[in-house]
Amino acid sequence: MTRFISERLSGLEPYVPGEQPRDMSYVKLNTNENPFPPPAEVVDAASREAGRLNLYSDPECLELRRAIAEREGLCAENVLITNGSDEALSFLFFSLAGGFIFPNHTYGFYKVFCGLYGADCEEAPLRPDFTVDTEQYIKSPKNAVIANPNAPTGIFLPLSEIERILRSRDDRLVIVDEAYVDFGGESAVRLIDKYDNLAVVRTFSKSRSLAGMRLGYMLASRELIADMDAVRCSINPYNLDRVALAAGKASLECDEYFRDNLKTIIENRDHAVDGLKSLGFDVLPSSSNFVFARKEGASGRELYLSLKERGVLVRHFSKRGIEDYIRITIGTREQMDILLAKLKEILQ
Ligand SMILES: *Cc1c(COP(=O)(O)O)cnc(C)c1O
Repeated sequence: MTRFISERLSGLEPYVPGEQPRDMSYVKLNTNENPFPPPAEVVDAASREAGRLNLYSDPECLELRRAIAEREGLCAENVLITNGSDEALSFLFFSLAGGFIFPNHTYGFYKVFCGLYGADCEEAPLRPDFTVDTEQYIKSPKNAVIANPNAPTGIFLPLSEIERILRSRDDRLVIVDEAYVDFGGESAVRLIDKYDNLAVVRTFSKSRSLAGMRLGYMLASRELIADMDAVRCSINPYNLDRVALAAGKASLECDEYFRDNLKTIIENRDHAVDGLKSLGFDVLPSSSNFVFARKEGASGRELYLSLKERGVLVRHFSKRGIEDYIRITIGTREQMDILLAKLKEILQ
């Protein structure tokens, strides 16, 4: 770092996003994007709004908040719109007292935010089968952060377990990151009326095919949303641009399109899991749009590299405990068949 940077950031370890390569066109199964483009209605709404970019966007994001609230049986005051769900997480990690506890294998950004904001953090080991050990969160006085389904495992924690954590103490928050909830599992949103120590974070990036738009939101009690809104307005009151707000609203009117795509992705997931198992892979039970798999006797890194050489990009984490695994995003049927064919070739 240059001498101009604050001492406080000397140990900064930034988040490393999955590769977005430009050297050739890969079968891209490494960042859990949706293989299907957004529907034409969304693209049209976005381009129509682009003609009004000389004007600031609505700093309250009111229309989109109302539309989301209505679907969830909540009020607009229970909704905060953010620039990707990463921004919602950022506001929470920036603001909350008391430190954070999250699984040792989960979304890497949680630890990065703790580093950036100087928050205390505890990484709670997953059980040997990669499920979340709820007792660790019940015992801890720290704010709990649970991606549900979890990444990179894809495993879903039953809502009754989330509720046990919520009930165990009300002096700290339980943050449920539902980036993948549409692909399986059950949302914690219906618990918001019952628990004011719950914050649910959602995104349009995965199930709604808008990763490039940067659109996320937080659902929580009115009081907590007001606190988070004060933080948002102290950092970037126009955090959502006009195009994103228009695309988000249009997206909510295309449920049928997304339901069909979800159905296809889930069918493709079943197909990929069957194929991987018949090649001798162990595959964790996935409720998301990716699978986490390993092959006994094969190195995760070697599999990742051999696939990359053959034009298929998956994600490998060199972190101890999961280094044998590769994380494979579920794409189209054709993409899954290419993946399986290349793996077969590699294993021969
Ligand atoms: C992809 C992902 C996010 C980030 O989503 P954006 O809305 O694109 O910022 C958040 N949490 C988890 C667990 C994710 O996998």
